[in-house]
Amino acid sequence: MIDLGVLELHELALLLAAVAWALAVGGGFAFFASSRDAALKRRLWPWANLLAAASFAALALWASGPSIELAPLLLVGVAGLTAFGYRTAQFCGRCGATVLSANPFVRERFCRKCAARLRADAG
Ligand SMILES: [Zn+2]
Repeated sequence: MIDLGVLELHELALLLAAVAWALAVGGGFAFFASSRDAALKRRLWPWANLLAAASFAALALWASGPSIELAPLLLVGVAGLTAFGYRTAQFCGRCGATVLSANPFVRERFCRKCAARLRADAG
């Protein structure tokens, strides 16, 4: 258990921001896993990825302090992971399931839940 009494205000704010980020990402995962509205998920997916990436990068930069050496590496890493995450998800037009591909370079062709053919384009 973390003793909150020994944390400084900056550390406490950072901890709260990290918890808020984790809750937001967890809520996002829960929404994309449980919602059956494929059209809505296709619309929100790019924004959810951008928001998660931007908030993570901001949090990481804040936690590490402004660092000229670290920032480009962090931004490239976050951009790569975001592109990877964006490409892994597809949404079934028939049952609305979120279908995650193990390999972002190979799109799933059929829904794992209802076996409908998936769209080849984004989302
Ligand atoms: Zn399906």
